[in-house]
Amino acid sequence: MSSSGDTVLSIQGVSKLYNLKRQKTAALKELDLEVRKGEFIAIMGRSGSGKTTLLNIMSCLDRPTAGKVQLDGVDVTEMSESGLNAIRRDKIGFVFQSYNLLPYLNARENVELALESKKRTKRERNARARELLATVGLEGKEENRPQQLSGGEQQRVAIARALANDPAIVLADELTGNLDGETAAEIMKFLVKLNTERGTTIIVVTHDESVASRTERILYLKGGQIVKESGGNLAKTKEGLQRHVARLEEARANEKEENADGTI
Ligand code: ADP
Ligand code: MG
Repeated sequence: MSSSGDTVLSIQGVSKLYNLKRQKTAALKELDLEVRKGEFIAIMGRSGSGKTTLLNIMSCLDRPTAGKVQLDGVDVTEMSESGLNAIRRDKIGFVFQSYNLLPYLNARENVELALESKKRTKRERNARARELLATVGLEGKEENRPQQLSGGEQQRVAIARALANDPAIVLADELTGNLDGETAAEIMKFLVKLNTERGTTIIVVTHDESVASRTERILYLKGGQIVKESGGNLAKTKEGLQRHVARLEEARANEKEENADGTI
């Protein structure tokens, strides 16, 4: 499969086999996925369909049993543990369902913690954390601890933290799962803004149709494979349409390539 210049994440023929007490589970089966810069993708599927496994492989927390993963032009499939740590720190922002903020630190300190201390002075980290918190609409709440913030605000802190090192890609597992409908909608509105105004590439795993419908591209997982794909509301934007056309063209080119190979 060929991958074009604006691909930020490329997953090629990825399988994941779990081997637990003689019980083998194929959590992912020869999965292919190309993510372009600036895409906003939702991954849906029933429990056990492989969503978390896929997200763990995308975020370099886990390795595939077979296949290849390229992140921002770097082949991470065979990379050392320390190399992967650096990739995770520099290229990936992760947002969790349960926020995962440290309770004894305030909002600003939680964000500062993610900022690499070698590259910045204490004062610079403080300023950058304030700037990031302002981006997520939390001006004036910098010194609040997690328990002094609402669920939606805590998730905003977590998003600010995920953006700390300007990641190539933001990944989220059920980030609205602990929020009420209205707050979830607000968080999604913010992510859409981040995606459309700054071009941040975002992938969210969700059970929630209303969350998925706000994205650009919805992938449906079943038995460790992508069985269906559809467009969300953002697919109607100019950039979304351009990417859709580019994907179709690429698929057609790949088909031709394969036909020429004689491998169908
Ligand atoms: P989802 O997030 O869609 O619910 P998962 O990726 O967590 O699905 O799991 C996919 C399949 O892999 C399931 O059948 C699950 O039981 C199995 N699985 C997940 N993690 C492990 C593991 N660490 N060891 C063994 N089996 C696992
Ligand atoms: Mg899961």
